[in-house]
Amino acid sequence: MQATVINRAPADRVPSELTGKCAIVTGSTSGIGLGIAQGLAEAGMNLVLNGFGEAREIEATRRRLADEHGIEAIYSAADMAKAADIEAMIEAERDAFGNVDVLVNNAGIQHVEAIETFPPAKWDAIIAINLSSAFHATRAVVPGMKQRKWGRIVNIASAHALVASPFKSAYVAAKHGVLGLTKTVALETAEHGITVNAICPGYVLTPLVQKQIPETAKARGITEEQVIRDVLLHAQPTRQFVTTEQIAALTVFLCTGAGASITGAALPVEGGWTAQ
Ligand code: NAD
Repeated sequence: MQATVINRAPADRVPSELTGKCAIVTGSTSGIGLGIAQGLAEAGMNLVLNGFGEAREIEATRRRLADEHGIEAIYSAADMAKAADIEAMIEAERDAFGNVDVLVNNAGIQHVEAIETFPPAKWDAIIAINLSSAFHATRAVVPGMKQRKWGRIVNIASAHALVASPFKSAYVAAKHGVLGLTKTVALETAEHGITVNAICPGYVLTPLVQKQIPETAKARGITEEQVIRDVLLHAQPTRQFVTTEQIAALTVFLCTGAGASITGAALPVEGGWTAQ
C-alpha cells in the first residue's frame, strides 16, 4: 500500500528542489548519520531514520526533525547486519512515501585490534554492517530509481577507503569494498539519472571515535589529549576534526541538480589526510 504525503512546509521556508523527496539514512540515530538526516530535513526531504538507541530519544529526534522542518519522518529499527531487515526497511519507506529517491548508506561500526587476534565475529559484523548492508539496500532501491530516471546513492565510506591504518583490518577492507561497490553501481546506473558516490571523511568527533580515545590512551600509555593530538589529528594536516555539518552539506549538494555530473567519485573530506 502506498501513502501520499503532503509536506507541511513552515510558512517561512523557501521550498528547495529537494522538497518532498524521500531519503533513507541508515545509522541516523547518532553522529554523521544524524547530521545528514538533519541536513536533508532542512532541504525539505522526508526521512526514514534508522539505527539503534533509546526508544524515547529516537522518537524525540524523529518528532523534532519533522516539526522543525515541516517534513514527514518515520523510524525503522532494521538491523543493518540482516538482509531481511534491510528489505523490510525499504518496504516501510515505500509504504510511507511511495518511493526511495535518496539512499544514504551510513551505518557503521569499528573494532581496533591486531590481525593475529582480531576476532572473526568482529570481522563478520564489520563486513556485514559497513559493506554488505550497502549492497542489500542498493540492489533494492535501484529498480525504482531507474524507473523514475532519478536517484542519489551516497555511501559514507572513509579516508580508510583510500588508505590504511594498522589494527583496522576489517574496517579498512570494508571501506575499500564500499568504494568498489560505489564505482561499479555508478557505471551501471550512469545513463539512468542516478548518481552513486562515496564520501570519505577523516576523523569526526562522534561516539564511534569518542569510544576509541580512552581505549587508545590506555593501550599506548598516553593521555586522552595526546591521543587526540598525536594519534587522531596527526593524520589530518588541518589538525581539526571534520564536522557532521560538513558531511551533511556535501551530501545535500550531491542530491541537487548541481551534483548530477558527479558519479562514481571518492570525495575526501579529511583535512588533507590523503594528500600526504
Ligand atoms: P556513530 O557510532 O556515531 O553512529 C553509527 C550509527 O550506526 C548509529 O546510529 C548506530 O545506531 C548505527 N548502527 C550501528 N550498527 C547498526 C546496525 N547493525 N544496524 C543499524 N544501525 C546500526 O558513528 P559515526 O562516526 O557517525 O559513523 C557513521 C559512519 O561514518 C560509519 O560508516 C563510519 O564508518 C563512518 N565514518 C566515521 C568517521 C568518524 O571519524 N566518526 C570517519 C570516517 C567514516
